[in-house]
Amino acid sequence: MTTSSQLPDRSALEQDQFLTILSREEALARFEAALFPRALASETRKLADALGAALADDVTAPIDVPPFDRSNVDGFAVRSADLAAASEGAPVRLALNGETIHCGVAPALHVAAGTATAIATGGPLPRGADAVVMVEHTQPAGLDAIEIRRAASPGQFVSYAGSDIARGEALLRAGTLIGSREIGMLAACGIDDLRIVRKPRVAVISTGDELVQPGQPLRPAAIYDTNGAIVAAAIDENGGESVFLGAIPDDEARLEAAMRNALTEADMLVLSGGTSKGAGDLSHRIIGRLGMPGIIAHGVALKPGKPLCLAVCDGKPVVILPGFPTSAMFTFHDMIVPVLRRMAGLPPRSDARVHATVPVRIASELGRTEFVMVSLVGGSNGLIAYPSGKGSGAITSFAQADGFLRIDALADQMPAGTEAEVTLFTPHLRVPDLVIVGSHCTGLDLVTGRLAHAGLTVRSIAVGSLGGLAAAKRGECDLAPIHLFDDKSETYNTPFLADGLELVAGWRRMQGIVFRKGDARFEGREAKQAVAAALADPACIMVNRNQGAGTRILIDRLLGGARPDGYWNQPRSHNAVAAAVAQHRADWGMTIAPVAHAAGLGFIPLAEEHYDFALVTARRQRPAVQAFLDALGSAEVRTALEKAGFRPA
Ligand code: AMP
Ligand code: MG
Repeated sequence: MTTSSQLPDRSALEQDQFLTILSREEALARFEAALFPRALASETRKLADALGAALADDVTAPIDVPPFDRSNVDGFAVRSADLAAASEGAPVRLALNGETIHCGVAPALHVAAGTATAIATGGPLPRGADAVVMVEHTQPAGLDAIEIRRAASPGQFVSYAGSDIARGEALLRAGTLIGSREIGMLAACGIDDLRIVRKPRVAVISTGDELVQPGQPLRPAAIYDTNGAIVAAAIDENGGESVFLGAIPDDEARLEAAMRNALTEADMLVLSGGTSKGAGDLSHRIIGRLGMPGIIAHGVALKPGKPLCLAVCDGKPVVILPGFPTSAMFTFHDMIVPVLRRMAGLPPRSDARVHATVPVRIASELGRTEFVMVSLVGGSNGLIAYPSGKGSGAITSFAQADGFLRIDALADQMPAGTEAEVTLFTPHLRVPDLVIVGSHCTGLDLVTGRLAHAGLTVRSIAVGSLGGLAAAKRGECDLAPIHLFDDKSETYNTPFLADGLELVAGWRRMQGIVFRKGDARFEGREAKQAVAAALADPACIMVNRNQGAGTRILIDRLLGGARPDGYWNQPRSHNAVAAAVAQHRADWGMTIAPVAHAAGLGFIPLAEEHYDFALVTARRQRPAVQAFLDALGSAEVRTALEKAGFRPA
């Protein structure tokens, strides 16, 4: 069996390279040229089942709507010529004909000169009449006559036959996505059978030995299959009918069988993973055996998404998306959605776009079209787009971003202050009521949760304490959560404030040594003794924190110049430290108590870290800021913070 675990040995050195990288435009053009034009399969659907389908043919109106000249008001059908001389001083008297025209009743009597017929809204105009007078503009004159004191223009309050929809008119065009409004038009014309485009069936396969389906327990070194669910959903969102076939291990024979099987049933096949030209990456080699012409592009100048592989096997598109979920989604939306929508008979997607200023410089790789996810917040001069990517391996960036911007292949950066066009992920943008930029803490969710329940939207962007302070100084957020220790004054946060910022006390987080319960080097000891025991044991491995983290300063003090094994392993978060210890990659590190407890680890308290908020004073009076301050001070939130292991200030 060939597996990706062979990557580090000799065979990895023999992997193919991406010799020909196509530009995004060239790759898409070649892919489309190999697939189109093609006939769209269609089927007949009942109107009641047609929601969400695309019309296969133009629909021509078979009847006039309304089908007859119809009264728009309750009143009297008249001949307008009879009322030409009517005025306040000279009312005209009309004799009533002996019928009332209700909805659904065909009139029997003629409206002769000098007469009128009572008519209801929606009633058909009787022969002879050419206008309707509202009942409010008439007075009864005895039992069988009315008086009218104003003139009526011909056609007044009448909807003529075909004035809404004319028989023979193109009602809806092929490719229209059927929504409730389209259903209304079709129903008004009496159409019950529709020719719609049969949705392309798209088989979805994830590849990788490491993948486990959601709902199953996670084995060591495994990850949940994210692409399977997200790709299937994106297919359904874009006019396809996804058929998820599960995750297949990196085994050439099994993968080939699964791909062949998928292509017998489906109109299109989308795989993810295994597309780098590494030794364990098989799918692209199998494609060559599945049908002509085979691979069209393997290696596209996109970032993320370079390893994208586009192929056509006997008329069916076969795509291998990159393994990292974010890369998979960008390439899917940019390169696959246009093809899928064409196969589904839908017009190209029209994404909403907005303009926003980029507050920081974004570096970009020359020669690749780069997509950068952004979170949008309202600034004093319009929208501000914060890059929110956490790397192509991250999935939360997708869910938390509002959209993305594109950096041209020929640019090596987007300078700070650029006015960029942002493509939105959703049709509408809701600018958040409260913007928090800085260091993230699980305790923060307990405060903002109250605001969310009150209907306020909160956007919290994790860029670390220093990034948050910079954003606050530029006035791009309401609050910046910070936990910065000043070595000189030995105090937290206050020394870092600038003009226009004030400190709002948040809570304290107990930092200390984290270890696996039962480890005799740590269990029952004080921090100093525990570190001494760790340093005395050459087999003991630590996990450090990144330079600049308040926790790092504490660690360096405790170590007093020692550099034990593991010192250079410097993750950027409290959670990563706990994970390293829990998974035996390290024996100890320093984290905060709630994180250690949540991971089921032992904890030796050492010092409290101050997690506070730099508040932009000019924004203090905003309702959402007030709501935040109220929540922060509320007994309910303080109790919740304590329960989670924090100590409210
Ligand atoms: P590959 O192209 O197969 O080498 O995958 C690149 C990276 O994407 C690896 O870290 C994989 O574990 C990850 N990956 C591949 N497929 C999936 C998937 N379906 N869901 C989540 N991550 C994946
Ligand atoms: Mg893989």
